[in-house]
Amino acid sequence: MATTKKVTKISGSENSPQGQKSTFVPTEEAKGRASQLRLFSILLWILAIVAEAGAIYVLIKCQKPIETKSWIWLSALIVVDVILVIIGSQLWKKANRLDPASKKDKVKFFLQNQLGVIIAVIAFLPLVLLIFTNKDLDGKQKGILGAIAVAALVVAGLVSADYNPPSVEQYSEQTSRVEELTGGNTVYWTKSGTRYHLYDDCSHINTNRTEEIFSGTVAQARELKNITELCKTCENRAEKALKEKNLTKGIDSQQPTAIPPKEESGTDEQQ
Ligand SMILES: [Zn+2]
Repeated sequence: MATTKKVTKISGSENSPQGQKSTFVPTEEAKGRASQLRLFSILLWILAIVAEAGAIYVLIKCQKPIETKSWIWLSALIVVDVILVIIGSQLWKKANRLDPASKKDKVKFFLQNQLGVIIAVIAFLPLVLLIFTNKDLDGKQKGILGAIAVAALVVAGLVSADYNPPSVEQYSEQTSRVEELTGGNTVYWTKSGTRYHLYDDCSHINTNRTEEIFSGTVAQARELKNITELCKTCENRAEKALKEKNLTKGIDSQQPTAIPPKEESGTDEQQ
């Protein structure tokens, strides 16, 4: 029943302690890496704002109408600004997958997951406003430069947004679902896959296209590949296996699944 593919176990993928159906807590290693990524993001974002300040400086100081040299400077600084905001946001989103926010605090959850969008606004809106309120610029130049800056704002904002933000609650829920089905927290995924699997011999990951299967925790699947969905085939298979197991175990109780019948106290509660 085992797979013939190469299975690569992701290091640090320890099962959570048994019986601890608690909220998800990132490992110390994950937390450390998240902090490092966040620090890099903030540095890149600061540089992005410096690039914006540079563009504002060029715009104020340059001759009007804007000459070719100043056009080159302005465009280059806007491009650098966009690149820095976007790279910073990608690192920021990766950090959030390693160390997600809790949904309990809605404001913090939103700010942490969408900080990239806020930074994009800070890194472009002042420049946009300055272009459109500049009295020395003629209409045509104002239109062209304004359009470039607005396009940069929109692109940076859209790419920086997190459309599927991770949360502590989602991680906990998905992890406990896997634990409930398999008794452990090991899942499998492939390089190009969009779902994680409970069995390494699942037919969906044992196709000819697959060469390598990765194994790790639910959180690692999210962290490394941003995989958020459990394979339906695996889920059904595990449910069936669980049902059969319960049937043989509780054959005389008449209640093989779901809620245990209300019994008098004093019965053996240990399994
Ligand atoms: Zn599967």
